[in-house]
Amino acid sequence: MADQYASIIIDISHEDVDRVFQYRIPPAILPQIRVGVQVCVPFGSGNRTRTGYVVELTDKPDYDKEKIKEIIGVAEKSITADTRLIELAWWMKEQYGSTMNQALKTVLPVKKKVKARNKKIVETVAGMTECPSLVLLNSEQQSIADAFITSYDSGDRRPCLIHGVTGSGKTEVYMALIDHVLQQGKQVIVLIPEIALTYQTVSRFYSRFGSRICVMHSRLSAGEKCDQFERARNGETDIMIGARSALFTPFPNLGLIIIDEEHEGAYKSETTPRYHAREVAEKLAELSGAALVLGSATPSVEAYAKAEAGIYRLFTLTKRAKVGSEMAAVEVVDLRKEMEAGNKSIFSGRMQELIRDRLQKQEQIMLFINRRGYSSFVSCRSCGEAVKCPHCDVSLTLHNRQRLVCHYCGYQIPMPKLCPNCGSPYLAGFGIGTQKIEEMAAQMFPEAKLLRMDLDTTSKKGGHEKILSAFAKGKADILIGTQMIVKGHDFPGVTLVGVLAADVSLYAPDFAAAERTFQLLVQAAGRAGRGRKAGTALIQTYMPEHYSIQTAAAQDYAAFYRQEMGYRRLMHYPPACHMLCMQVAGEDEELMSRIMEAIAASVKKHFGETAEIIGPVPAPVYKVHDIYRKILYMKHENYDILIKIQKYVKMRWDETERCKKLTLQCDFT
Ligand code: ADP
Ligand code: ZN
Ligand code: ZN
Repeated sequence: MADQYASIIIDISHEDVDRVFQYRIPPAILPQIRVGVQVCVPFGSGNRTRTGYVVELTDKPDYDKEKIKEIIGVAEKSITADTRLIELAWWMKEQYGSTMNQALKTVLPVKKKVKARNKKIVETVAGMTECPSLVLLNSEQQSIADAFITSYDSGDRRPCLIHGVTGSGKTEVYMALIDHVLQQGKQVIVLIPEIALTYQTVSRFYSRFGSRICVMHSRLSAGEKCDQFERARNGETDIMIGARSALFTPFPNLGLIIIDEEHEGAYKSETTPRYHAREVAEKLAELSGAALVLGSATPSVEAYAKAEAGIYRLFTLTKRAKVGSEMAAVEVVDLRKEMEAGNKSIFSGRMQELIRDRLQKQEQIMLFINRRGYSSFVSCRSCGEAVKCPHCDVSLTLHNRQRLVCHYCGYQIPMPKLCPNCGSPYLAGFGIGTQKIEEMAAQMFPEAKLLRMDLDTTSKKGGHEKILSAFAKGKADILIGTQMIVKGHDFPGVTLVGVLAADVSLYAPDFAAAERTFQLLVQAAGRAGRGRKAGTALIQTYMPEHYSIQTAAAQDYAAFYRQEMGYRRLMHYPPACHMLCMQVAGEDEELMSRIMEAIAASVKKHFGETAEIIGPVPAPVYKVHDIYRKILYMKHENYDILIKIQKYVKMRWDETERCKKLTLQCDFT
């Protein structure tokens, strides 16, 4: 057999993972060598013995075989917490078609050599007090905890999905499971969406588990994140709560991973490898012998389909946990009828009536505008052109009536006096943004105190927290905001949630648009009536007959899922099949198009018999930052076929000189 070689990273916590060194594997230890194993090697000119991790195996080394040194042996502690993460990186590389290096960078944050930092742990936690206020689980919650514990102790590691209506007490269930796992001397990772990583959620965990918790949010620097990971590696902490990347915490004995609000879009990474935290967590749990628990009031179609197929174990919580708290009543208003009746305001007659009622009773109101793919742009009434970004294929968004901003590249100009296209002075803002709603609400309800939460008002540090806590303290009657306000917060004073235009997100160029809309509406309705007083959610829409609006109004997840799955099967969309989106981008529009056509032709020729291939088509936003983009979609029931296609294209791509001027990005769904 030919000699075997291993690529090794030395001292992963301090060196850049770009620096891998190749060593020959002595045949005697070959059976023990696999990706992730820790080995001893001679290093540097003095050949001092160092330890390192195997990250790749090959029989074709990149260097002169004569000069390659040999591995001394397998390290005494050959399997560590990092072993699992390196194995995970290997899996991610294969699963998402990245390089090993990109995958390693994702799972092993690199500690740049920096001056000693003073170790303070974390601002969010400072000042919180530890006071275990134990809630007695109700029977639904208890039976989930019991079932989990029984199967956990018997070694059953089938992932669990908890489908629990908003406010049904999922967090309390998670805490009971965490308790059990901690008692066995194991550690826990809890993922929550960044937006919910606020004082409210974190303090609940903190008051239960105190100093055993570490919190990792995206505001931490790379160095601070490494410090957190170091504490986990050293056993100084047992629970890591954080957004997506907290998944890569190197706990020595991981026992449980929880993903709250598993349907959230933020769990999908936007950089290569474009992984989904749910899938990676499933693999990590398998590698570490840990349990995985997913929770949501509106499970992703992907997760629910797995529960249906028996791959996940399904648990349900059907009612609100707080005594006396009921699900909100939901009403739907047909905006077309409002138009016919001559009401031109953005507030329907019923909305006005309910807002006045709540103001008079001194109860709180949340007004929610579903702004995905929707913003206030400026267009010319003479020539009809919208003012667009010169670098991107999108309209500019009006801010504070003074500036036009591109949300894709950050380009900004003062609001022009004349149309840049025809010179006409008749430029006007269109579309409804949060600022516009605030103005209109102020006009219609002059006695109401208003708060607005959107990108403008939360851009300052802590802006988020300030607005939320002011509203929680009753300092305003109406909170106006984008999807930010519908997630995770508990305001017992709110008895009316108004959704101003429910269907804008239905028009998004995305096969999951109906799912997003349903989720947003159910989560929005879930904000109403969380205290003792019953709540109402009022949904204004131009499409009251659409199933995602109807099932959201009925708060009937099962009905939504049936319709949505039917659509996905019919149209051949995930999870009814797998999909690979391949995007080619470049400054040279002509070259980009030609290469894309060539890829499409070659993929069709080699795989057209087996896979469904669509495109190339221009990306939903064709030009960003002066870069043009086209997409090729490929679908197949068998994920491995898509991986094969991806590898084939990548190989051809790397051989083609002209491709160096372009970028290729692959995204699996
Ligand atoms: P979810 O995570 O499902 O939205 P939470 O865990 O936040 O629900 O619970 C909603 C509210 O109900 C919280 O205020 C919580 O303290 C309360 N709660 C949860 N479980 C119970 C229980 N068993 N008894 C009383 N109150 C509970
Ligand atoms: Zn014009
Ligand atoms: Zn731009």
